[in-house]
Amino acid sequence: MKQINNYIDSVFQNHYTHLEEVISSIKENGMPSISVSPSSGKLLTMLISISGAKNVLEIGALGGYSGICLASGFGKEGKLTSLELEEKYAELANNNLSKAGFGDQVSYLTGPALQSLEKLVEDNKRFDFFFIDADKENYENYLEYCIKLADSEAIIVADNVLAQGSVVDQEVKPKRYTELMKKFNEIVANHPQLESILIPIGDGMTISKVKK
Ligand code: SAM
Repeated sequence: MKQINNYIDSVFQNHYTHLEEVISSIKENGMPSISVSPSSGKLLTMLISISGAKNVLEIGALGGYSGICLASGFGKEGKLTSLELEEKYAELANNNLSKAGFGDQVSYLTGPALQSLEKLVEDNKRFDFFFIDADKENYENYLEYCIKLADSEAIIVADNVLAQGSVVDQEVKPKRYTELMKKFNEIVANHPQLESILIPIGDGMTISKVKK
């Protein structure tokens, strides 16, 4: 899986500007290097531009790498709302989105995402694209909130669903989140309100469309 992903990343390079700077800024600030892979980021951009999504919700901002990929898909017309636990991370992400020219199109809600999601439901907010990339323990809860907040035919993407191959390959050492992802994938695959597929790009992404 690693070899295939390295090949995809090297051939289909992600040429969006500012992404290298984001990676450097994450390192400089002593934050973990757990942004989406370049090709996963490119897939996010393409899904947004193909679907025409304009109102995007991200769960898990880190330093803004995926945020820039998402915003690059909607150009000047879209809006990104991003949920992040850590104030410091949201500040860096905001800085990086501003440097990339999306400063006035992004807003960050800090604190536990479950609280922010409850508030968005209370405020009757609606989104047409969701990206789940935060604590794995809450993926199931995040999925249900996304469905509550979704426009008809909205798209929901979740990252890390292959747990570095450990959901299927007995020779890969199980990760902390292997069983969580196995269960999450079953839920996504069989959810009555979703039509879904799993793409083995980066650490694996599920892509779901909310049924009409
Ligand atoms: N999507 C980012 C990217 O590709 O650039 C990477 C996100 S990183 C894998 C996961 C992020 O989720 C971290 O920044 C972490 O602080 C955040 N996070 C973890 N638990 C959270 C929670 N309960 N609520 C909100 N954010 C959380």
